[in-house]
Amino acid sequence: MIDPHQVSVFRPGLLDGQVVFITGGGTGIGFGISELLAELGAHVVIASRKADHVEHAVQTLAARGHRASAAVLDVRNAEQVKAVVQEIADRHGRIDVLVNNAAGNFYAPSATLSPNAWKSVVEIDLYGTFHCSQAVYPVMAAQGGGRIVSTSMTLHYRGWPLMAHATAAKAGVDALTRTLAVEWAPQRIRVNAIAPGPIPTEGVKKAFTPPADSGAADVFATAEEKMAEYARTGIPLGRWGTPRDIANMVAFLASPAGDWITGAIFVVDGGEWLSKGGRQGMGDG
Ligand code: NAP
Repeated sequence: MIDPHQVSVFRPGLLDGQVVFITGGGTGIGFGISELLAELGAHVVIASRKADHVEHAVQTLAARGHRASAAVLDVRNAEQVKAVVQEIADRHGRIDVLVNNAAGNFYAPSATLSPNAWKSVVEIDLYGTFHCSQAVYPVMAAQGGGRIVSTSMTLHYRGWPLMAHATAAKAGVDALTRTLAVEWAPQRIRVNAIAPGPIPTEGVKKAFTPPADSGAADVFATAEEKMAEYARTGIPLGRWGTPRDIANMVAFLASPAGDWITGAIFVVDGGEWLSKGGRQGMGDG
């Protein structure tokens, strides 16, 4: 059987000449997306708060002969986002794809979640997605179209204790996706989202390990055996996801194959959420 992680199903040069703006594209799932889109020929502008994240990612891609550049920004700051989008437009003359991937997350009981903690996650995940989408709109509209792909999640499809902030924000991302898809269709801007299942990125391992007193089961806290057991019992397709699993869907949506797709939210999770019923997921034993 062909291993989709070793062999690309996309033709070389598929995205030649395209310009991609990706937030949070220097780490985890975002880097997997940056990597695949750059491999397919796009120039990828990787943006996040920490210069070392984005610069390291750009150097890694450049060392492989791909086109990439870095931008330091906080997606909560609409003015910063606008300035970076203007720079990209001035330098490249276009933005074909926006990937809204930046997010913050942690487990916290809703009863004691501070207003700042709530605000921070909602501002990064939801406001950030809006700021970036609004900033690329004039560029995409002027060039006759574009693609926006946002990274959502599946946890808000049912109740997910200790995650009120992120589930509320991502439910908002889903609503925004559907609304912008219809509102911006006349400009030929396709707006879609991807809802990944569990992907053990470093950021998630850190953020999702709940504090000892939070009452949450430990998610990634322990050994690989625990993860293997979860893959066997909690994910119908029997394995954890990888950044490439998500990147493949982004590449599909960025390609001409995505031409008639807008307002869709694609679950890419090995069947995880559908199989859960009333149970909580990762780490519930
Ligand atoms: P990650 O590695 O922690 O990625 C988060 C990225 O967002 C980082 O590169 C971070 O870079 C950037 N970021 C955070 N706050 C930002 C801000 N204010 N402005 C700009 N950039 C910011 O986590 P991940 O697991 O790859 O998650 C990527 C996306 O997938 C997220 O949208 C997440 O909700 C979604 N997701 C992940 C999973 C999973 O199991 N991994 C499941 C469902 C959905 P800086 O620190 O440099 O800013």
